[in-house]
Amino acid sequence: SKKILVVGGVAGGAGTAARARRLDEDAEIIMFERGPHVSFSNCALPYHLSGVVKDCDDLVLMCPTNFAEQYNIDARVNNEVLSIDREAKTVEVKNLKSGETYTEDYDKLVLSPGANPIKPQSIKGVNNDNVFTIRNVVDIDKLNTYVEENDVEDIAVIGAGYIGIEIAENFIHNGKNVALVEAMDQILQPLDYDMAQILQKELHDNGVNMILSDALTEVHDDHIVVESGKKIDAEAVVLAIGVSPETELAEEAGLKIGKTGGIEVNHNYVTSDPDIYAVGDVIEVYSKIARSKTRLPLAGPAQRQARAAANHIYNIPNKNNGVIGSSVIRAFDYNAATTGLNEKQLKDAGISYDFVYVIPTDKVGLMPDANPLHFKLLYEVPTGKILGAQAVGKGNVDKRIDVIATSILLDATVEDLTESELAYAPLFSTPRNAVNQASLVATNLINNRFRQVPVSKVRELVEKDAFIVDVREKEEYEMGHLVNAVNIPLSELRERTDEIPKDQPVYLHCRSAQRSYNACLALQGRDFDNVINISGSFLGICCY
Ligand code: FAD
Repeated sequence: SKKILVVGGVAGGAGTAARARRLDEDAEIIMFERGPHVSFSNCALPYHLSGVVKDCDDLVLMCPTNFAEQYNIDARVNNEVLSIDREAKTVEVKNLKSGETYTEDYDKLVLSPGANPIKPQSIKGVNNDNVFTIRNVVDIDKLNTYVEENDVEDIAVIGAGYIGIEIAENFIHNGKNVALVEAMDQILQPLDYDMAQILQKELHDNGVNMILSDALTEVHDDHIVVESGKKIDAEAVVLAIGVSPETELAEEAGLKIGKTGGIEVNHNYVTSDPDIYAVGDVIEVYSKIARSKTRLPLAGPAQRQARAAANHIYNIPNKNNGVIGSSVIRAFDYNAATTGLNEKQLKDAGISYDFVYVIPTDKVGLMPDANPLHFKLLYEVPTGKILGAQAVGKGNVDKRIDVIATSILLDATVEDLTESELAYAPLFSTPRNAVNQASLVATNLINNRFRQVPVSKVRELVEKDAFIVDVREKEEYEMGHLVNAVNIPLSELRERTDEIPKDQPVYLHCRSAQRSYNACLALQGRDFDNVINISGSFLGICCY
C-alpha cells in the first residue's frame, strides 16, 4: 500500500489527505502541521475580533483526534517538515514540542504549506510588539488578546484588500477607531475603480478613516506615520498587504519555482519531481482568461487542487480549466463580488474588451429591502465571450456573479447569457435580472444598436464642453447635475428634440443609464445618428 505524506494541515493539505483516504482505505497517510491546529477556518478569523465567532476554539473545525477517528489519518500538529531528500524519498521533521527531529519516508509527498503575510522590513518598527499579521488561529487570538488587555482604542489596518477590510469592519463593530491605509488609489484591487467607489463610501460612512494612495513608513507605540508624512493614532497595527508563497522547502529541494514566485505544477499539480505534488497558496496557477501564469491564494481553488492531486496519485483523470478568480466580500451593509478579469487586468493581458454597466433593483421594487444592484459585465470584442463581472449592492450580489463564473467556465458569450433562465419571484429577483439585462445591453452594443462611453469619461466630456443631455426629471436634475448638462427629461424628450443638435455628438445620461439608453434609441429613431449613452451610475459620478 502507498505511504502519502502531506505538508500543511489546512485547506489544501487536509483536503488532499481526506480525498486520498476516500480513494484508498489501505494507504498510510501522515499530515504534518507546524502550528497547533489543523483544519481551521482561515476565512472566519476576522469575525473573532467582533465576537461573531466568540470563542477562538470554534475556528478549529477538526482536531487530530477527529482525523484519526474519522479518516484514519495521522495528523501531527506542532511538527514542522524541515527538508526533503528527493533521492531517498524522505522528509526530515522536527517535533516542535519535544525538539526531537526524525525522518519519514514517502511514496508520494504533497506540499500545501500556504503563503506568509508580507512584512516589509523597510518599515520602521515593523517588528514591534504592536504589529500583527493574520494567518491562523494563534495570530487572531494574539491580536484580540493584545487589544483587550491593553484597552486599545485606535487601530491601523494596512492594506485594503479582502482581509484588511474584514478586519477593519470587525474592529468597528467592536467599537474601535479604525484607520485603513492603502497604497493604491482604491480599495479592493479585483474591483474596477468605479465599482470600488461604492464600497469606499460605505466604509467611510461607517466611520472607517480611509487613507488612500499612502503607504505605512513608521510604527510607533501610539501612532503610525505614512509616506505623505501624516501621523495617525494607532496603538495596534495590522498588516494585511498580501502574502508570499512559502516556497523555501520546495526551493531547497530543487523543485522548479515559476516566474510568479509560486511552485510550478502541471495539469495534475505534480511539481518538477514526479513524486511530489503541490497545491494551494504556494503554487502558481494558470489564468484561463489571461492565458498566463498567476497566483490566486483563495480557499476554493485550494480545495479543488487538493482533490485533483489526490486523484492523480490514484490515476484518476482530472479536468483542469485553469482559474478565473471569483471572490465576494461584505463591507457593512454592502456586498461586492467579482469574477474573471477586471478592466486593468484585461488591459495588461492585451485582451480587446468592452463592458456594460446596469443598475437594476435586486428584487421587485415593491418588496421590502429592494435595493439597486450595480452590475458590470465585461466581454471580449468582437466575439462577445464573457470575461468577467463585478456586482455591488446590499443584496445577494454573489448569486449574480456565480452565474457569470459558471458562464466563463463554459466559454459562454453575452448572446448565450441573454437566454439564461434564472429563478424569479418578487422577493428574490426581477423577471429580467441583472445578468439578463447586462447581456441584452451588451448584445445590443455588439450589434451596433447604440453607442456608449463609460461614466469614468464624464469629467473629460465636461471639460471639453460636450453636449450632454440629462434625461432625468426636473426635480432630480435640480438636486444636483453636471455643470453644463441640459435637462430634457425622457418624458418630454420626444416633444423637445429641436433643442438637440444634429451636427455634433450628443451624450445622454440619467441616474443608472437606463432612461438615457431609452432616450438614445428614441433619438436614433428620429434620425439623430450621433447619440451616445453615458454608461454607468450618476451616483458613481458623485463619488469621483
Ligand atoms: P494554509 O491554509 O495557509 O495552510 C498551510 C499550513 O501549512 C499552515 O497552517 C502552515 O503552518 C503549514 N506549514 C507550512 N510550512 C510547513 C512545514 N514546513 N511543516 C509543517 N507545516 C507547515 N479565501 C477565500 O477563498 N475566501 C475567504 O473569505 C478567505 N478569507 C481569508 C481570511 C483570512 C484572514 C486569511 C488568512 C485567508 C483567507 N482566505 C480566504 C485564503 C484561504 O484561507 C487560503 O487560500 C487557503 O487557506 C490556502 O490553503 P493552503 O492549504 O494553501 O494554505
